[in-house]
Amino acid sequence: MTDACDLIVIGAGPAGLASATLAAELGLSVVAIDEQGTPGGQIYRNVEAVDRAEFEPILGEEYFAGAELAEKFRAAGVDYRAGVAVWRVDPDGSMAWSDGEKAGVAKGRRIIAATGAMERPMPIPGWTLPGVMAAGAAQTLLKSAGMAPRGRVVIAGSGPLMLLVAQQLHAAEAEIVAVVDTTRFGAWFKAAPHVPRAFRASDQLAKGSAMINRVRAIGAQVYWWAHSIEAKGRGKLESVAFTASGAAREIEADMLLLHEGVVPNTQLTRQVGCDHEWYPVQRYWRPVVDHWGATSVETLAVAGDGGGIFGAEAAAIAGRLAALDAAFRLGAIDEAMRDDQAKTLRQDYHRATALRPMLDRLYAPDPKAVAPADDATLVCRCEEITAGDIREAVRLGATGPNQLKAFTRCGMGPCQGRMCGLAVSEVIAAERGRPVEEVGYYRIRPPLKPVTLAELAAMED
Ligand SMILES: Cc1cc2nc3c(=O)[nH]c(=O)nc-3n(C[C@H](O)[C@H](O)[C@H](O)COP(=O)(O)OP(=O)(O)OC[C@H]3O[C@@H](n4cnc5c(N)ncnc54)[C@H](O)[C@@H]3O)c2cc1C
Repeated sequence: MTDACDLIVIGAGPAGLASATLAAELGLSVVAIDEQGTPGGQIYRNVEAVDRAEFEPILGEEYFAGAELAEKFRAAGVDYRAGVAVWRVDPDGSMAWSDGEKAGVAKGRRIIAATGAMERPMPIPGWTLPGVMAAGAAQTLLKSAGMAPRGRVVIAGSGPLMLLVAQQLHAAEAEIVAVVDTTRFGAWFKAAPHVPRAFRASDQLAKGSAMINRVRAIGAQVYWWAHSIEAKGRGKLESVAFTASGAAREIEADMLLLHEGVVPNTQLTRQVGCDHEWYPVQRYWRPVVDHWGATSVETLAVAGDGGGIFGAEAAAIAGRLAALDAAFRLGAIDEAMRDDQAKTLRQDYHRATALRPMLDRLYAPDPKAVAPADDATLVCRCEEITAGDIREAVRLGATGPNQLKAFTRCGMGPCQGRMCGLAVSEVIAAERGRPVEEVGYYRIRPPLKPVTLAELAAMED
C-alpha cells in the first residue's frame, strides 16, 4: 500500500470510480480502496466478470453501464486496492485498513468517502428466521454468484429497488408468489406536488413506470397498503402474515425478502467526526456537505449515496465534482478551471436528481414500521437486544443510543450498530415521545469493520 498520496478514495462504486478516474486524469496520485474484490459498488457489483449475454435479460441493460466506468477507472492509473476494508479514518487524512491478512495505515492529503448506501433495517417479528433476508442481499447473491432463491418467494416493503429486485429475480426464474407493498396510500398526495419537477427526468420516469408494469406482468399477487408484517415459522420461515387494504392475510412462503429503501452508510463519516443532519422525509441521517461534497472535517469530502440517496447517475456526477474540488484544493487546477468544468456537471446533477423529491415522499417510511411495536422483536441482532429490552432501558433512564450501550450492549457487536442504529434511535424516540433528531445516533468508534489480532500484529508500524 502506498503510504502517502494526494487523494484516497474509499469505495469503488459509481461515485468512487468516477472521482478516482477524474482526479487521476487531473494529475493527482490516487489510491482507491474497496472491500469488494472488483470495482462496481452495489449497483454494478461484479460487472467486469458477469457474462453479458446470459445476464442482460436478468439484470437489464443499465447494469452494464458500470462496465464503462470500470474500464475508464482501470485505465486512469489509479492505485486500486481491492479486497481492502477501511476501519479507521482520522481528520489528518490518515486511515487504517486491513486486507484479511494484515493491516496498515495510509495517508492522503485529501480523502473522498464514497462508501454508498445500505438497506434500512426492517425489524419485524420473525426477521431472524432462516428464510428471511434483505431484498438487496438476494440481489447481491444474484450479481456475485448467479444465485436466485428457490421455493415460494414473498417480497415485502417499498421502493424502487424492491420492484427492481422482484423483476430481476423473476427473470432469474425465482417463483415470486406475492409482492406485499407497504407504500402508504397518503404518500401519493405528498408526492404529487413534486411530479412536475420529476418530468425533468422524463427518461427515469419512463423507466420507473415500465418497471412497475413489468412487476405487474410477473403474475405475482400484489397486496397494496400493507403493514404489520410478520415472518412466521418453527425453525424456518413457513408463512408471512400482514394486513393489506384493511384485511388480515397469511401466505405460505419459503423465503421472505424485506426492503424499506436504502439509507446513507454514515459509519465512516461519523467515526471521523463530521457533522450530520436528520432528513425527516426519509428518516435517515446524512453528513452535512457543501455543493462539492466537502464535510465539516477539513480533509474529507463525501460523494454518492453516502451523502444522501440520489441514485447511481447522481453518485458518479457527485464523484466528479468532489474530484474537481480535490484537484483545486491540492493545487492541480485553478479555481476558474474547477468552476468551469463543474458547470455542465451541475446541470447534469440537477436533471439526474429531479425525480428524487417525488420518490422520497412516495416511498417515505412509516414511522410505526421502523420502530417495531412488538416487544419481543429483535432490534440489535449482534447482541440479541429486543425492542422490549430497549424500552425497559429507557424506562430505567437511558435517554439515547449511547446510554443504551451501557445498559444493554446494544450496538456493540461485530456490525458496530450499522444494522440496528436507525431502528434503535426510532424506538427510543417513540418511547420517550421525543423527535429522533433530539435522541441522536450512536457515537461510532473504530474499528468500523472487524479486524483480527493477527492483522493488527502484522502491521508494519
Ligand atoms: C444492497 C444494495 C443494492 C443496490 N442495488 C441497486 C441496483 O441494482 N440499482 C440501482 O439503481 N441502485 C441500487 N442500489 C442503490 C445504489 O447503492 C446506488 O444508487 C449506487 O450504487 C450508489 O453509488 P455509490 O458509489 O454512492 O455507492 P456504492 O455503489 O454503494 O459503493 C460504495 C462502495 O464502498 C465500499 N465501502 C463501503 N465502506 C467501506 C469501507 N469501510 N472500506 C472499504 N470499502 C468500503 C463498498 O464495498 C462499495 O463498493 C443498491 C443499494 C444497496 C444497498
